Amino acid sequence: VDLDEVDDEEDLLPRSPIVTIMGHVDHGKTSLLDFIRKTNVIGGEAGGITQHIGAYEVSLPEDKGKITFLDTPGHEAFTAMRARGAQVTDIVIIVIAADDSVMPQTREAINHAQAAGAPIIFAFNKMDRPGANADKVREQLSTMNILVEEWGGKYQTQEISAKTGMGVDLLLEKVLLEAELLELKANPNKRAVGTVIEAALDKGRGIVTTILVQAGTLKVGDPILAGCYSGRVKALFNERGARIDSVGPSGPVQVLGMQGAPTAGDKFNAVESEPEAREIANKRLQLQREQGLRTQKH
Ligand code: GDP
Repeated sequence: VDLDEVDDEEDLLPRSPIVTIMGHVDHGKTSLLDFIRKTNVIGGEAGGITQHIGAYEVSLPEDKGKITFLDTPGHEAFTAMRARGAQVTDIVIIVIAADDSVMPQTREAINHAQAAGAPIIFAFNKMDRPGANADKVREQLSTMNILVEEWGGKYQTQEISAKTGMGVDLLLEKVLLEAELLELKANPNKRAVGTVIEAALDKGRGIVTTILVQAGTLKVGDPILAGCYSGRVKALFNERGARIDSVGPSGPVQVLGMQGAPTAGDKFNAVESEPEAREIANKRLQLQREQGLRTQKH
């Protein structure tokens, strides 16, 4: 089987952006993710997302669009995925506390995003604090050759407070604007292809794997393959803990039915049959063992 088949242009449909939030420690990444998670209202449904499944999807009001957030702040998850060849992020939001300044991990985040070719939007956070000075941060960025839009450059910025929520709606609109320019597309009408975000053993439910579908549609009953493990989709859950039947491109989902726990960053595929999935998984496991033996010898 060809697990990397290329789509015809005419089969591609628009998909929503997948966003990672990065920035220096204590600048407000977790607070921003929490604020967006808690305040979002999907399809008129009141109340925020209560579950933590490693990724969540939010819908903007008035059908403006959807955004998927990787719910792991910081650089480790991003670099771990990239190290495994997984490219899941379309847009990076870099949070900078405006009462502080551009810090080492801010620079690191900029480097990571640029290396991944992902556009950056800067969120100047903690604007509710008396000492906040976004212009000072703009100035610092300019000395790194990063010119913000309001100063004639290409980088979008938004002043926010992750604490009060000020400006967060505007930040999300800027994400959608950036996404529009990227013309993100995927073919929803094929077997699902995605990336493992996290996997864990749950006492009652067995192995719970959070994946991000990047193309195709994953359905209950599909034979699946991720890393060195195979299985069959027994159930799918969204970030609200609700059972769903299927999930399409840019959708985060919890999958029950993997026979073993894959690693974050592993590629995920729905395949034609379970024996086929098992065969490929076993081959990969064998290859991994051989490689392990080889590195031991050296
Ligand atoms: P992270 O390390 O980047 O994930 O930062 P956190 O989200 O944990 O935030 C670090 C600290 O800054 C926490 O005590 C937050 O409550 C506080 N904080 C985050 N955002 C804001 C904000 O917009 N305004 C104020 N006043 N405090 C904030």
